[in-house]
Amino acid sequence: MSGSTSIHPSVDNGVQAGAENFAGGTLICKCGHNPVTVSVNAQSAHNHVCGCTKCWKPQGATFSMVAVVARDSVSVATNGDKLEIVDTDAAIQRHACKVCGTHMYGRIENKGHPFYGLDFIHTELSRDQGWSAPEFAAFVSSIIESGADPEQMGAVRSRLKELGLEPYDALSPPLMDAIATHIAKASGALPS
Ligand SMILES: [Zn+2]
Ligand SMILES: [Zn+2]
Repeated sequence: MSGSTSIHPSVDNGVQAGAENFAGGTLICKCGHNPVTVSVNAQSAHNHVCGCTKCWKPQGATFSMVAVVARDSVSVATNGDKLEIVDTDAAIQRHACKVCGTHMYGRIENKGHPFYGLDFIHTELSRDQGWSAPEFAAFVSSIIESGADPEQMGAVRSRLKELGLEPYDALSPPLMDAIATHIAKASGALPS
């Protein structure tokens, strides 16, 4: 039963391990002609599947798959004139291809944000093998906001566990702790 629950094409047949010493690759948008390409000179971190309504996901996928890398490691290589920011008011400025709609990288410009310095990327846009594997599932309950059947949530969470992607309805505990620590240091509740 649970095997028929589709999560994301990159994990539906099992999660592939990342490669040691992998040092990045090229992300390519979905345009057949003059694609936008983005160079990433680093291995990804905190890769996960995400059920939120903001992350880009391929047609038909229930979850997105998204990771972070240091912003210094990300550069637009070709056809950058096709990029536009999806929502300039969002904390994460998602730079998407105007033609095919693929989000190429998400960047945080607010220096006070807990994740400032990290860009969000979708490693599935790369043909290079060895990106870090997804480790958990974030914002699982939010897939209902995109139309997932609430009655199927048990099956979805079972499938995620079967794949080794522990389901959370926010980010993973280490990332939630990192955000709270950042806030506590900013407010003075913890020494900075
Ligand atoms: Zn495109
Ligand atoms: Zn998301």
